[in-house]
Amino acid sequence: MPEDRPITDPIRPQPGIMEIALYVSGESKLAGRTDVLKLSSNENPYGASPKAQAAFAAAAGNLHRYPNTDHAGLRAAIGEIHGLDPDRIICGVGSDEVLQFITQSYAGPGDEVITTEHGFSMYPILAHAAGAVPVEVKEVERRIDVDAILSAVTERTRIVFIANPANPTGTMVAEADLHRLVAGLPGDVILVLDGAYAEFAEGFDGGASLVDTYPNVVMTRTFSKIHGLGGLRIGWGYAQRSIIDVLNRVRQPFNLSVAQMEAAEAAVRDVSFTRFCATENAKWRDHLRQALVQMGIGCDESFANFILARFASAEEADAADLALKAEGILVRKVAGYKLPNCLRITIGDEDACRRIIGVLATFKGVR
Ligand SMILES: *Cc1c(COP(=O)(O)O)cnc(C)c1O
Repeated sequence: MPEDRPITDPIRPQPGIMEIALYVSGESKLAGRTDVLKLSSNENPYGASPKAQAAFAAAAGNLHRYPNTDHAGLRAAIGEIHGLDPDRIICGVGSDEVLQFITQSYAGPGDEVITTEHGFSMYPILAHAAGAVPVEVKEVERRIDVDAILSAVTERTRIVFIANPANPTGTMVAEADLHRLVAGLPGDVILVLDGAYAEFAEGFDGGASLVDTYPNVVMTRTFSKIHGLGGLRIGWGYAQRSIIDVLNRVRQPFNLSVAQMEAAEAAVRDVSFTRFCATENAKWRDHLRQALVQMGIGCDESFANFILARFASAEEADAADLALKAEGILVRKVAGYKLPNCLRITIGDEDACRRIIGVLATFKGVR
């Protein structure tokens, strides 16, 4: 083995890269257990639509063919189901990639990107990767504060990132506040509305109507959550033609595979499966929340497919996490999101929710 030569001229990455704190994903394994109940990554407990699974399997016969580069079939399906213009849609490898297109295209060294106190950890990662500075704005009681965001805007601000509903809090910014936010932003600052959980908030369009009203709003969506395709990596964005035209220039032409596009198109067209998942989620989310509140565990109303359980202290949250692990249940610790006394719990099926309630009731000594 040749020995490492002493480094005389250090090889340096671009500015910002070494500021990136690596993304921490939900735990998926517990030593010595095969029956783990994974409620740590907001995955769909019902899996993907059987039609999406069939489309994925059928794609196996075409793996030697390059995929199309314009995603026309998938964009047409998304446009049809959501009532949007397919020419104003862009698809990516998860919505994470669409968020990356936006940051790479519109922010660079010296620029500022606004995120919020408990905001999704990908936003600062993407800002640093572009050499920009993430600016974190305080929230109020786990809710995004529109006025605080507007006060943080400077001449260097290029992008504001908001997830609505938000992760990991599950809270939402009201429609009127969203309008107030966009109306108060300079016209050259892009507001990104990350709608990863939009389908779980009844009657919410994810921000599509705001995109139609204001030229500087971009909505992102994903197939990872309600469509149960997190393992396949597909997301999309909706914006003005002029913005989509920019984002398409940094997108690799073959970013989505044949199988990704086929499965996603079948998933978005399976409206009854989507509706089933949303209905079940809402039912068990409310049931779980009420049960926790009755045990004395704090819990804001959630509009997503998880709840944020709030304990008296970080120590109690850690102890509850261990009690759940002892029963084979994995949830998400969110100290990294400045919520050390909380645990984020994905809404599973009925059996999963009843198991959570049982373990936490024993933990709190209320039965
Ligand atoms: C899960 C999630 C996404 C989706 O990411 P994908 O890359 O589409 O899997 C985006 N934003 C937030 C806030 C999320 O929680």
